[in-house]
Amino acid sequence: MTEKKLGILTDVTKCIGCEECVKACREVNELPPEKPWRWLKNITDLSSARWTTIMKVDSPKGRRFVRKQCRHCLEPACVEACIVGALQKTAEGPVIYDADICIGCRYCMVACPWEIPRYSWEDTVPYIQKCDLCYERATAGQRPACVEACPVEATIFGERDELLSEARRRLAAEPDKYVQKIWGEKEVGGTSVLYISDVDIKLNGLQQAVVDETPMPQRTFKVLRHMPMVFLGTATVMGGVWWIVDRRQKLMGSEEDSKDNSQKNEEEGADNP
Ligand code: SF4
Ligand code: SF4
Ligand code: SF4
Repeated sequence: MTEKKLGILTDVTKCIGCEECVKACREVNELPPEKPWRWLKNITDLSSARWTTIMKVDSPKGRRFVRKQCRHCLEPACVEACIVGALQKTAEGPVIYDADICIGCRYCMVACPWEIPRYSWEDTVPYIQKCDLCYERATAGQRPACVEACPVEATIFGERDELLSEARRRLAAEPDKYVQKIWGEKEVGGTSVLYISDVDIKLNGLQQAVVDETPMPQRTFKVLRHMPMVFLGTATVMGGVWWIVDRRQKLMGSEEDSKDNSQKNEEEGADNP
């Protein structure tokens, strides 16, 4: 098992927002075309048909484009939350998904601190949808399709340690340009997708307040360790309800039977005085 983890470094200062990465991702993963719904015309967020997207961030320095995709956390909460093991953290780093095992509980969607997994609600049998870091390509020595497609090398691929070194090199080379921070280095225990930028970037939405350096499984475990007991408790309660209902029906049945019998006896008694 290799200790080296593959990852992606996105330099927000280089991204021009052309969405070639989005297009390449859609092609390589054979994602369906996005619905031409009116309210989706200006698409900026992930969807079942969009595993990576370009978020627009307005700052005092102007508009910046920030690519969003699964962060491939070093300790992924989605993997911990999945009760059937449909999500796995591979030895190489990508967090991959097995649709054949998935039962559609969507615990992974709740657990992910970055609000990444999506659900293909439009399908008759829906599945979880998210970036897999182009696992097959990456482990075959190829770059992810999105990285290959980027015309300005705003997003680069490699081993996480080397990407961190490259990020530090860029921050040190131009200290006045960059915010002295590598997003993804430490948050939630570290992620394989890293960012550097010249403006503050919000990498997630509602859950920003809870994202710190604590690995998410340590948080989710507090909740998830109670889940078997919740299932057990529910099963016990439902079993109890079934027993009471069943017993009541049997009692009512035997009461009816004894009523019928006594009525019959009375009638027979009347016939034979
Ligand atoms: S970003 Fe979310 S979906 Fe991706 S590995 Fe981390 S917890 Fe899982
Ligand atoms: S790594 Fe692959 S699956 Fe992930 S966003 Fe890029 S092209 Fe899509
Ligand atoms: S292809 Fe490169 S420059 Fe274009 S939007 Fe994607 S990351 Fe940005």
